Amino acid sequence: MHDVIVAGGGPVGLFLAGELALAGCSVLVLERDQGLSSPLNTLPLGMRGLNAGSAETFHRRGLLDAMLDASGADAKEVGAHPDAVEAPVPRDVSHFAGMGLDAGGIDASALPFRLPSPAMEGFMTSLEAVSTVLAERAATLGVEVIRGVPVTAVAQDDDGVTTTAGGQEYRGRWLVGCDGGRSAVRELVGFDFVGTDPQFTGYVAKVTFADPKQLSFGFNLTPNGMYLRTPWGYLGMNDFDDGAFDRSQPLTREHLQAVLRRISDTDVTLTGVELASSFTDRAMQVSSYRMGRVLLAGDAAHIHSPLGGPGLNLGIGDAVNLGWKLAATVHGTAPAGLLDTYTDERHPVGAAVLDWSRAQVATMKPGPNAPALRKLILDLVSTPDGVTHVYRQTSGLFNRYDLGSEQPIVGRSAPDFRFTGGTRLGELLRRGQGVLLDFTLDRALQTAAEGWHGRVRYAAGPVHNDLGLAAVFIRPDGTVAWADHHADPEAFQRAATRWLGDPRS
Ligand SMILES: Cc1cc2nc3c(=O)[nH]c(=O)nc-3n(C[C@H](O)[C@H](O)[C@H](O)COP(=O)(O)OP(=O)(O)OC[C@H]3O[C@@H](n4cnc5c(N)ncnc54)[C@H](O)[C@@H]3O)c2cc1C
Repeated sequence: MHDVIVAGGGPVGLFLAGELALAGCSVLVLERDQGLSSPLNTLPLGMRGLNAGSAETFHRRGLLDAMLDASGADAKEVGAHPDAVEAPVPRDVSHFAGMGLDAGGIDASALPFRLPSPAMEGFMTSLEAVSTVLAERAATLGVEVIRGVPVTAVAQDDDGVTTTAGGQEYRGRWLVGCDGGRSAVRELVGFDFVGTDPQFTGYVAKVTFADPKQLSFGFNLTPNGMYLRTPWGYLGMNDFDDGAFDRSQPLTREHLQAVLRRISDTDVTLTGVELASSFTDRAMQVSSYRMGRVLLAGDAAHIHSPLGGPGLNLGIGDAVNLGWKLAATVHGTAPAGLLDTYTDERHPVGAAVLDWSRAQVATMKPGPNAPALRKLILDLVSTPDGVTHVYRQTSGLFNRYDLGSEQPIVGRSAPDFRFTGGTRLGELLRRGQGVLLDFTLDRALQTAAEGWHGRVRYAAGPVHNDLGLAAVFIRPDGTVAWADHHADPEAFQRAATRWLGDPRS
């Protein structure tokens, strides 16, 4: 029996499997498809934008360089200068419903707790590149992956979960469904999946045109919908048909051409369609990410439009939040209720992404009201406060979990503190343990940390910028669990017990 079975070996499933194995669990991934790569995962249709939050997560697991190499991205463009003491002003900001925004307007002083890091910016990649790096990591950590076996049945009891895939039964103590937006696990277990109906059918396709000059490049909002065209033959469209297109039908050249002609109000001719895929902006989320011994992560837990590209980032955030909590539950060291904090923390983050998607759709929907709403929003997001707000919402660095502390840094993604000796916090988090940073070399704090031998890494010394803090305790997922202006061993012990359990367990 494996400790954990992960259904779905997409990026979220593979990252989670690696997190669990890093924490000492035996993990089996059951994946429907035979191969890691498919035409929809590779460029151009497999193109994905990862935000700075995801880059920071990969930095903390020593995966950032491999991810940048696989993506053809430049480490210099993504990170701060290695010797920087102050965080650079963000260079890039996402868009809102296609409204291009100027990162130069961001008010960096309104972005809390930023320090220089090798991961200051997001980067473009492909699903194939991300999955390849994560599959290699999972293999190195001893994760077993069986491909070509769709999950078709799930039965849980007090001791574990029996998962049927490819006609075989597999037994695990826990099951995590990472099997995407049409999750079989979600369906089979009966998770409550609620939200709003679609307004549009979206299409992405690789095409050729007979008369390309009829169309403009970039994001084009028209009275009938939206089309996006790039110089490398990528076509995206949002057709506001209330999601009426039957997505089980093949996507024909004739259909795509008819939609494009209607949206663009041209008689443009598609001469070829190499590849095409459709989606909707249906915005749904499970009410709880856990039912008994079964949990969900990534698109299996939440679906929404890809506007602004938040989905994979959200899923990576789920996986890094869940991995250490589930591993501690498997090992019997988790404090009571730890696993339920996964839903408590991640559900609000997912709900905010769904709302962000809905708000964008409302400004794009053909009709008399959207242009006025759009004008108003454009005015707002063009102000320093507005563009800073968009950056805070989309960069993945400024979520704050409500951990019940008045200390404003607690619950946030930890800044990448750098010791004067050169070591960065991100490097200390690579083994997936908690980390206690002690900027005052306090003997009593060190002794307290030693109580959690193997579960807390203690690092002491002066840092380039301590943000006025004396000590910071960071959870394995990079979230600040405790911080203070005074080194207080008892306060640290309370925080460590709250998140890591009894030191003797
Ligand atoms: C056009 C488009 C553009 C996007 N752009 C961005 C972007 O720029 N940035 C971003 O962050 N996100 C983006 N997204 C969203 C992103 O692609 C998804 O959120 C992400 O792929 C979700 O990862 P996942 O691992 O949860 O699910 P998936 O990538 O869907 O992986 C699920 C895996 O489960 C497997 N599976 C399915 N059913 C079963 C079964 N029954 N048994 C076993 N295995 C099964 C599948 O084969 C697959 O390997 C975009 C989405 C679209 C459609």
